[in-house]
Amino acid sequence: MFSEKLFKRLYHATHITFLTGAGISAESGVPTFRGKDGLWNNHDVMQLATPLALKTNTDVFWEFYNWRRRLVTDIEPNLGHYALVDFERLISQVTVITQNVDGLHQKAGSTDVLELHGNIMRSRCSECGYLPEADGKVLAFDKIPYCPKCNGLIRPDVVLFNENLNSTILYQAQEASATCEVFFSIGTSSLVEPAASLPYIAKANGAYLVEINVERTPLSDNADEFIEGKSGKILPMITVLFEKIREK
Ligand SMILES: [Zn+2]
Repeated sequence: MFSEKLFKRLYHATHITFLTGAGISAESGVPTFRGKDGLWNNHDVMQLATPLALKTNTDVFWEFYNWRRRLVTDIEPNLGHYALVDFERLISQVTVITQNVDGLHQKAGSTDVLELHGNIMRSRCSECGYLPEADGKVLAFDKIPYCPKCNGLIRPDVVLFNENLNSTILYQAQEASATCEVFFSIGTSSLVEPAASLPYIAKANGAYLVEINVERTPLSDNADEFIEGKSGKILPMITVLFEKIREK
């Protein structure tokens, strides 16, 4: 199922980078809002998770995000998330770049996580940038929150559709892709830029490129190794095997 080359590359690696997408969270029960699941209470999520909806349809926008926050609070990481934590014992530097906003990697215990799309549990004032949670404030889940500093509308600190990624985090993600020796792309459609370019940055800089997914993506033919299956099953198999090889 796995190549000898993968373990050889892991054996000599000092830095490995993971890019994770909706697939790894879906295995924990987080909805992906893709395709037929793109509706929430009859609202098109592509229209709702936008800066325009925040301004013009604030009630429904926050109902949607409060619903998602409640959901995420109750959801637990799966064996795939925990396998990435295990890698931190086995390789000196492990970077997790995620497109997910649910914080499950941190909940599992990963220490170096770059959240490309922000974190749904964090809030930010859309006017002055004030961060309530960083200031120890807990927001109620049942109403539209306003900024205690400037009375501006508070929004979830996530990248909405039609918004750009945080350039600092994107730069760090590009760095972590360029400097690693093995790069794993896990449960991502490999369609959404700029995240879709990260595996190519890694490969262009000499990394061994591995994709784990339940189905093939545009990346699959360009990966050194495509492993078909659920990350919650595949990743623990890799860590267990790798640990055995290292002990020898
Ligand atoms: Zn404010």
